[in-house]
Amino acid sequence: MFGKLIRREEGAVLVMVAAGMAVLLGFLALVADVGFLYLNRVQLVNAADAAALAGVWHLPGEPGEAKTVAREYARKNGQADDQIQVQTVDGDYGLQVRIQRQVDLFFARMVGIDRGTVGAAATARIWGLDATNNVVPLGVVEQNFEFGYEYVLKAGSITPGAPYTGNYGALSLGGTGAKVYENNLKTGYTGILRVGDRVYTEPGNMVGPTRKGVEHRISRCSHGGFENCIATVDCPRVVVVPIIDRLNVPGRSEQVTILGFAVFYLQGVKSGEITGRFIRRLVDGEKGDVMHFGAVVAALVD
Ligand SMILES: [Zn+2]
Repeated sequence: MFGKLIRREEGAVLVMVAAGMAVLLGFLALVADVGFLYLNRVQLVNAADAAALAGVWHLPGEPGEAKTVAREYARKNGQADDQIQVQTVDGDYGLQVRIQRQVDLFFARMVGIDRGTVGAAATARIWGLDATNNVVPLGVVEQNFEFGYEYVLKAGSITPGAPYTGNYGALSLGGTGAKVYENNLKTGYTGILRVGDRVYTEPGNMVGPTRKGVEHRISRCSHGGFENCIATVDCPRVVVVPIIDRLNVPGRSEQVTILGFAVFYLQGVKSGEITGRFIRRLVDGEKGDVMHFGAVVAALVD
């Protein structure tokens, strides 16, 4: 009788162990599938964020291009059969990217669930640039700039009409004199400049410092020309230039007003004259309301 009881309890323990194992395996299977879904979702979130940021800077002027770039980016960072939706929002100042993916499950199919759906969405928005640092100490007078065209960023002895009362277009930022100007030209002015700030001009052609400053930047670029450089995040030939209200100031060093910021690709330097090609680009800095001259700020908004 005593022996029977023991055997009966052994049997009950075996049943309980088997049931426990099934629960445990089921739980592990759930954890594995949930982990796999989570991994896919992280990939989609990253792909959506990157795609929105890659396309948004074509707004508001080129919504078609913005969508194409974002879609290509999402496809490159995702998988072949991902479903990608891109649309402009916020009056063509925002770009929304949605990506969905069907994920094959490993363990859930034991209970009849073969696939799960994961999705992610990102919206990036664009603003004008209100304040930034690392600008070059040049002031270009406000005008209509066209993409890819060459402009005089600083006049030299060969520039028609220059100088204007001794000013060739150099700015005095954080100090006066040719040495300060040359350093600012080489590495960018470290202080923050803002739309509406008034800054002093730096008179004089400064042929030597101008040439050294520009050549310093050109020698540090290894991208192989305009198309590659403007597609690179940190090419030293791509510079942010304050756009000012005037250069024909009455005296030798006078205050001028910063109206915005433009971005140029440094083309060359000759006899003190610096030329650059106008481009449009994302710049690190504070966002403002008005779109200024090609320098724009973008960020994810949700
Ligand atoms: Zn370059």
